[in-house]
Order: sequence, then structure tokens, then C-alpha cells
Amino acid sequence: MISTQEARDIISAFVHPLGTLTVSFENSLGFVLAEDIISEENIPSFDNSAMDGFAVRSEDCKTVPTVLQVIDEISAGSVSTRRMGQGECATIMTGAKIPEDCDAVIQHEWTEAINEREIKLLRSVVPGYNIRRAGDDIRNGTTVLEWGQNIRPQEIGVLASLGRRFVTVFRKPTVAILATGNELVEIHKPLSNGKIRNSNLYTLKSLVHELGCDVIDLGIGHDDKQELKTKLEHGLNADILLTSGGVSVGKFDFVLETLKELGVEEKFWKVNIKPGMPLFFGIYNEKPVFGLPGNPVSSFVTFVEFVKPAILQMSGNNMTNYRVQIRATLNNEILKKDAKRHFVRGVLENMNGNFSVKTTGTQSSGVLTSLTKANCLIHLPEEKKMFQIGEIVEVELL
Ligand code: AMP
Ligand code: MG
Repeated sequence: MISTQEARDIISAFVHPLGTLTVSFENSLGFVLAEDIISEENIPSFDNSAMDGFAVRSEDCKTVPTVLQVIDEISAGSVSTRRMGQGECATIMTGAKIPEDCDAVIQHEWTEAINEREIKLLRSVVPGYNIRRAGDDIRNGTTVLEWGQNIRPQEIGVLASLGRRFVTVFRKPTVAILATGNELVEIHKPLSNGKIRNSNLYTLKSLVHELGCDVIDLGIGHDDKQELKTKLEHGLNADILLTSGGVSVGKFDFVLETLKELGVEEKFWKVNIKPGMPLFFGIYNEKPVFGLPGNPVSSFVTFVEFVKPAILQMSGNNMTNYRVQIRATLNNEILKKDAKRHFVRGVLENMNGNFSVKTTGTQSSGVLTSLTKANCLIHLPEEKKMFQIGEIVEVELL
């Protein structure tokens, strides 16, 4: 059986970034940039005050204390039309343009008001003091944001400050999802004997939405080959097809054979992991197809570990640092009975600067609440079986 790393490598080798599209900068949050953003101006575009205080000529302020005449008031957004002569200054607000003759700003705390038109300066200043220079943040002609960079709120802010209304980004995949199983009932319908609500569809849809992708909801597919065929065929129009359930060796597990009949080429089936061992991955017309196991925790974990990286890669992500993994001290003993890689639901706590982690209790792959209690997955490597209290383990934040 292949390892987690081998499975990831196979997936990564078969998926590639989709094309690009141009979107309004406001809608670009969560996308990956598909162009360099080069500034056509200086930001800020003029020298301005970093403080509320007084704009002065530093040559007047060499010997202190000294008295200065206040001849103007400059608020943010306005400009002074006065020339500033010897011994003169202007009240200035943060962000306001520095008057032509001034070269420093003195904060209020360093002055004493004598009357409305005079201040006493208590400390000397050097030229440039409290002045934010034009181009301090961004210089005209420089590359501010780079191709391949993730667009977060701070990148949106930079685009706004540059007046860039449209940007070219990588397209994100549309994901079709089908939940399979005769036992599944739509969540708004009554539960009859032996049936369960179709929770996986909603978990998976949310995981996809969290990555900013659109979902084609294929609903429930019963364990009937013809029905599965029709629904899966429709799903193969999407950029990615995800199924849940029906990939094990049960008598009614028809998903794999139906996918293959439709022309999906198997790349692997079964990975040496727990939960989620029967994961299937195939390719149809260069599009990835994932058959996730039906157990709710298995489908969640296999999504996070294998589908999510594929979606990120297709969305143009450079795949460095996409997984937030840290080391923590184990707070309870874990005994593994097999040589699989385990993804154990855990609670990570920061104890005075040291991370400590414990499991959420029962790790049955049917117990979905093990995930609601968890804030991380503890990765237990294949070879090792016994994990003692106090050992250091790798933890992936959820
Ligand atoms: P399967 O992978 O089809 O053998 O299903 C494994 C287990 O997961 C069974 O107990 C199913 O009832 C359960 N299961 C399958 N699909 C879903 C679903 N969509 N929502 C919740 N549980 C499911
Ligand atoms: Mg089933």
C-alpha cells in the first residue's frame, strides 16, 4: 500500500494550475495573483506628518527653549499656502502635507502653549524628524506584489492604495460532490429505520467553500450502478469530482467500478493511513477524481490531507507553507495497533508558551464529534506504535 507522501506526490504530479481570470480587486480575496503588481506612483505621494504637532524649520530649533509663531493650521487632506519664515511654524495633523519651507514636525508633548499664536519649544529637532517621506511605503516602479502571492486582506489594502481596480488571478476549481449510499436520507426528510442523515455532503461542501471554490451539489447517489453512472457522468464536467462512500470492498460499493466504466483512470486506491485507508484517486480528461471513504471522519481527514492540497495547487498556490504544522508535547499515551500513519483528533493548548496536545477521546472514524472537539490532527508516523506522555509529536492545525 502506498504511503501518505507517495499519494500526495502522485496527486501533485497529475494536477496543475487552471487558467487565469481578471476580477475586481475587492473580489480577489483568497485567490492567487497571476501577475506582478508594479507601482506607477510613490506611496505616500507627498512628504507628510507622522504626528499631530507643529511643522517647523529645524534651523530655527537648534537652541532651546525658543519661542515660535504659529501662523497656519494644516489638517490631513489640506495644504498650506503660507511661506514659513524664520521663527514661524504651523499646527499640523497626522497625514497632512509638510509645508514647503518646513523640514521637521515637533509633537505637542515637546512644546508649551504660550497663547493662541505662540508656542515655546522645549527640545531641539533634527531635519526629517516625524516626517513620512514620499515613497517610504512604495516606490514608483517597484514590484509590490508578486505573481503566485496569496491575496489576503493586507494585499487588498495595497491594491486599494495603488488604485488597482482589477487584478489577474488563477481560477479556482469547481468541485462536484456526490454522497453515495442506500442508507442516506436528505437532512430535511424523516429518518426511517436503518437510515442516517447525509452529513458528509455538507461537511465536504463546507470544506470546499472554505477554500473559496464553487460546488456542484450532486446530492445522494444510491448504491445502484445506473443511478451512480448518471450522476457521476454529470459530476465529471466539473474541474474536480469528489464522491463519499462506496469505495471499500462491500457488496454494494459500486463507485469505483462505475468511475472506471466512465473512463476514469485509476492512479491509486488505498493509502497506508487511518482513518481513510480506502481513498481512491483517478484522472479523467486531466481532471482529478477523488473517491473518499464514507465514514464521516475518514472523508474529512482524506479531504484535508489529499484533496485540499490538490485544490490549492490547481488554484495557483506555490504549495510552500500551506500546512500549519507545529511540534507539541503529548499529554496522554497513545497505542497504535498497526503500521499505518494515523491522523488523531487532538486538542492543542498553549501552556505558558509550550504547546501540549491530548486526544479528543474515542477515535472511531464514525464519531464526527471527535472532530468538533478537536482543533488539530496529531500525525503519528507509520513505523512507531507506542507514544508516551511527554513525547514530542507533529500536530497539524485545523
Ligand atoms: P462506506 O464507505 O460507503 O462503506 O460507508 C462507511 C460508513 O460511512 C457507513 O457507516 C456509512 O453509513 C457512513 N456514511 C457513508 N456516507 C455517509 C454520508 N454521506 N454521511 C454520513 N455517513 C455516511
Ligand atoms: Mg456505502
